[in-house]
Amino acid sequence: GEGLAVSARVAPLGSRLVLLLVEDLTEARRIEAVRRDFVANVSHELKTPVGALSLLSEAVMDAADDPEAVNRFAGRMQVEATRLTSLVQEIIDLSRVQDDDVLTDAEPVTVDDLVAEAVDRCRQRANSKQITMATGTTPDLVIWGNRGQLAAALGNLVENAVNYSPARTRVGIAARRIAAPGSGGGDLVEISVTDQGIGISEKDRERVFERFYRVDPARSRATGGTGLGLSIVKHVAASHGGEVTVWSAEGQGSTFTLRLPEAGRARPAEPDPGPDD
Ligand code: ADP
Repeated sequence: GEGLAVSARVAPLGSRLVLLLVEDLTEARRIEAVRRDFVANVSHELKTPVGALSLLSEAVMDAADDPEAVNRFAGRMQVEATRLTSLVQEIIDLSRVQDDDVLTDAEPVTVDDLVAEAVDRCRQRANSKQITMATGTTPDLVIWGNRGQLAAALGNLVENAVNYSPARTRVGIAARRIAAPGSGGGDLVEISVTDQGIGISEKDRERVFERFYRVDPARSRATGGTGLGLSIVKHVAASHGGEVTVWSAEGQGSTFTLRLPEAGRARPAEPDPGPDD
């Protein structure tokens, strides 16, 4: 009778609900695992400079009557303190770019400005290694987005190119307009950073965008690296509706490419801050 008909209607609905609940739980568990991993990694990464600072301060006290040694230890303390500062800053940057609301204060950002800023930021280190930085950009390219985050992303790519390259090599930064794949979409801005550095093996190429992943932790630390730079780049690209990819040949060099939607062409001049954003 009627009871059977009702339960026959409810049963498939019920099993779908259970399925949805199970999927939700799995996703929640995955997010929780990622969070726990991140906290464990952060704690580990913080312990290294803090431990070094603690040892060095003891060394300074022990060396009180040897001014030269005090100077040496103080210098190393400064290096560790700088590392700690940049680690904390990058953790803050990363949590900011993971925030879904990043584009609420979006504005038109000129690509030439981003490139100039990234070059400026790395000039000192590049000069000290006699690395030449060459730029070639299509003028007047504009991206719609968060200026600070876009600058941090490109800055990280150029910084890596300089850090993971031997002396007297060349770092190239190019920007141009390309047609978006498929039809209907507007144009993309493609910004690529090419180096003649150590390169990245195929196995590592898949992992370098993970948080705290470093091919060679000792080398990364020596250049003040935190292992967070590329994960920040990846999040910035994604939150701007774009992507970052890498090409590399071991021992020859790497090219990191950012592709981001160009502003002004396919988009309205004023962004719609509606719920779809
Ligand atoms: P880090 O702070 O260690 O540079 P990133 O997240 O920026 O962290 O990069 C992760 C790792 O990817 C680096 O430790 C390095 O091993 C590798 N890597 C990044 N950029 C380059 C590059 N241009 N050439 C070679 N290796 C690179």
